Amino acid sequence: MIIAVDGPAASGKGTIARALARHYGLPHLDTGLLYRAVAMTVSDLHLDPTKEADAVAACGFDDSLLADPRLREDETGKLASVVSAHPLVRAALLQRQKRFANQPGGAILDGRDIGTVIAPDADAKLFVKASSQVRARRRHNELVKNGADVTFEQVLADIRARDERDSGRATAPLTQAADAAALDTSSLTIDAAVTRAIQFVDAQVATKTRS
Ligand code: C5P
Repeated sequence: MIIAVDGPAASGKGTIARALARHYGLPHLDTGLLYRAVAMTVSDLHLDPTKEADAVAACGFDDSLLADPRLREDETGKLASVVSAHPLVRAALLQRQKRFANQPGGAILDGRDIGTVIAPDADAKLFVKASSQVRARRRHNELVKNGADVTFEQVLADIRARDERDSGRATAPLTQAADAAALDTSSLTIDAAVTRAIQFVDAQVATKTRS
């Protein structure tokens, strides 16, 4: 079984994908980490993230980088959204994600284009969303907890800028697949969101099995 989970930054898609992976016993890939690894390599090599050739040169990163805690930093996420807009960067990371999705026994992947590009034939597709205010509040709380000195307004502006870049790019923009179930987590607890996600997946899989 392949499960595709897409959605904007701080929508809760990562938390939901991890919970689904545990529930169904599937291996999970957070595809944002791949773009974050490219971003960090660009930064470490003092390359220019806005130049496609520079970003492509950073795609041959070592797998060990995926465990680097710096990948989780907010700056890396912002830079990832810049490098991910280059079509050749997306092409360079495509096969790796498709291989993961099509491994025997199935998989769950979360990102921006899983249901539309990486696994268009997935057995279940979720599009996780929440209002920008709610997502900024979550992200702000997390940053402040980790000692960052940042205002809510700055975080909200960053979230909106990231949404605009991710949704507005020409190649594989963030968009809900036509056959994905939308899950709005704005007013849901994590447990409630996970319960809904499992219901959606079970319903989609049951429908596919019948047809
Ligand atoms: O999900 P996360 O915040 O880690 O993703 C960082 C950035 O990587 C996103 O803002 C997006 O630009 C990019 N990304 C993407 N396609 C994916 C996953 C992430 O373009 N499948």
